[in-house]
Amino acid sequence: MISGVRMVLLGRQGAGKGTQCVRLARHYVVPHISTGDMLRAAVKRGTELGRRAKAIMDAGDLVPDELIVRVVDERLHQGGTTRRGYVLDGFPRTVAQAEALAEITAAQPLHVVVDLEVPTEVVVERIASRRTCADCGAIYSTAAPPKYGWHCDNCGGEVIQRDDDTEEAILHRLDLYERETAPLIAWYAERGLAVEVDGIGTADEVSTRLYAVVDERVAAASTPG
Ligand code: ADP
Repeated sequence: MISGVRMVLLGRQGAGKGTQCVRLARHYVVPHISTGDMLRAAVKRGTELGRRAKAIMDAGDLVPDELIVRVVDERLHQGGTTRRGYVLDGFPRTVAQAEALAEITAAQPLHVVVDLEVPTEVVVERIASRRTCADCGAIYSTAAPPKYGWHCDNCGGEVIQRDDDTEEAILHRLDLYERETAPLIAWYAERGLAVEVDGIGTADEVSTRLYAVVDERVAAASTPG
């Protein structure tokens, strides 16, 4: 097994990014950095950031680039993360954020940007049945609930439907994804970093595909010449 990777996972809401990022982070022994989870934690703690982000998130809009870039910049500089590796989930979401990330990581650039591809029709259905742990962000669904009532298997937290998983907010987020985030795939492809992975199948099948792609990219980066 290869340990250490610097990667971004892109994909529509409901493509399975959250689930796969947790697995990737364990597999490669690097932190899973989810901007959505960080923002939800800030809302819960009632910090200045949380107060600024709450209404924007509930409407399904994007928080301003400058705000989120500052949060990610700080996190990536904790404990040598830029060097040791990470799985970024939910960031970057705009070309301006991708440019900022390229600057932050200039000394140790990304190994790979994976686009987890699941068609829109499939994700709308998945999000409607999605349930999330309010404490640790673990993801369940009405078809695969936690073992004991609606309490998280990992931490015992309450498992609920997210405030922004209403149909209206979901459709708005998917629309924003097509307009703001999908162009990033072309942006990273031009830089030789983008790889598409099919996100249809069981979670294990998708993980196996992801590990194969990431292993190949990390190995290529560590081969001289
Ligand atoms: P989803 O992928 O289902 O939209 P996330 O948990 O990634 O959910 O994000 C939830 C919300 O947090 C977004 O709708 C947005 O308001 C905000 N957010 C998260 N990451 C970013 C980002 N990189 N830029 C701007 N807003 C963000």
